[in-house]
Amino acid sequence: MKNLPRIRFANLPTPVEPLPRLTAELGGPSLWIKRDDLTGLALGGNKTRKLEFLIAQAQEENARVLITAGAGQSNHCRQTAAAAAKFGLSCVLVLTGAPPAEPSGNLLLDLLLGAEIIWTEREKRDAVLQQTFQALANSGKRPFLIPYGGSNPIGAAAYAAAMNELMEQDFHPDWIVFPSSSGGTQAGMVVGARRTGLTAKILGISVDEPAGILQERVANLANQTAELLEMPGGFVARDILVEDAYIGGGYGVLSDLERDAVHCLASKEGILLDPVYTGRAAGGMLDLIRRDTFKPGETVLFWHTGGTPAVFSDSYRDIL
Ligand SMILES: *Cc1c(COP(=O)(O)O)cnc(C)c1O
Repeated sequence: MKNLPRIRFANLPTPVEPLPRLTAELGGPSLWIKRDDLTGLALGGNKTRKLEFLIAQAQEENARVLITAGAGQSNHCRQTAAAAAKFGLSCVLVLTGAPPAEPSGNLLLDLLLGAEIIWTEREKRDAVLQQTFQALANSGKRPFLIPYGGSNPIGAAAYAAAMNELMEQDFHPDWIVFPSSSGGTQAGMVVGARRTGLTAKILGISVDEPAGILQERVANLANQTAELLEMPGGFVARDILVEDAYIGGGYGVLSDLERDAVHCLASKEGILLDPVYTGRAAGGMLDLIRRDTFKPGETVLFWHTGGTPAVFSDSYRDIL
C-alpha cells in the first residue's frame, strides 16, 4: 500500500473486546466489539482515524482553516473541530437546521472547541459549503475542505489501514458489522480487507440510504481509494454488503430499535452506544441474530464507530 501522509494522534490500536454476557443472552454467534469509540480525539469515533490522513493533507497544502458540513449533532464535525484546535487551525462548520436555544451534545462540544458555526437548510447545505469555502479562499484564509463524513479517498484510506491493525491484532471474525452512511468507513474496510486477505463479510447497516444507493457509493469510493493507494480496484456495487432494513423514518428519527439496543449494550456490557449510528446498527445486528442470519459458531465483530456524545443531546433525550 502506498504510504500517504499521516499524522498519528489517534489512540491506536483500539481494543478488541469480547461481549460474553450479550453472547450468552442471545445464544447466537460469538460477539466481539472493536472500540473505535476510544480513538481519543475529544471523545473519539471513526472520524478520528480519517482525520489523521486528512489533517496531514491539509498541512501539506498549508491550510489555515478546516471547513466541513454535517447534521446539528454531527460527530464528524465535532472531531474535525477538535483536530483543528489541536493543530492550530480555525474551523468552520456548516450545520443543517436551526440553532437550538441551548446547545447540547456534539454541538456544545463544537462551540467549546472553538468552531464557527453556519446554520443552513438541508437543501442548501452543499451550496452554502461551497460559497463559504470560496469566500474564505478569496479572503486569503487558505481553507481546506473536508467532505461530508470525511468520506473522500484520503479519509477512506484510514479504514484500509484499520484493517491492517485488525490483522495485527490477530483477530479473524466471520463478520464485521457497523453503521454505514457517507460510506468512507465501509469503502476503506473493503479495500483494506482485499489487501490483507481478510475474509470477513463486511456488512454495513445503512443509517439513512437505500441499499442500492449506498452500495454504489461505497463501490465508487472503494475504487477511488484503491487507485490512491496504487492497488487494483474493480469493486462493484453487488460486492458491497449493505442491510437497509433498519433505516425506519430516516436519519436521526429514532424508534424502539435504537432505544432497545442502546439500553441492551449499556446494561449487559457497560458499553455506551449513540442513538443515531451505533444504536441503529447494533439494533439491526441484534435483529439479524434473532433471525439466525449468522451461522452457529460464527464470530461477529461489532465495530463501534463512536458517537457517544449524542447521548447527551437534548434532541434524543425523550427517546432514550
Ligand atoms: C460518521 C459516522 C458513521 C458512518 O461512517 P461513514 O464513514 O460516514 O459511513 C458511523 N458511526 C458514527 C458514530 C459516525 O459518526
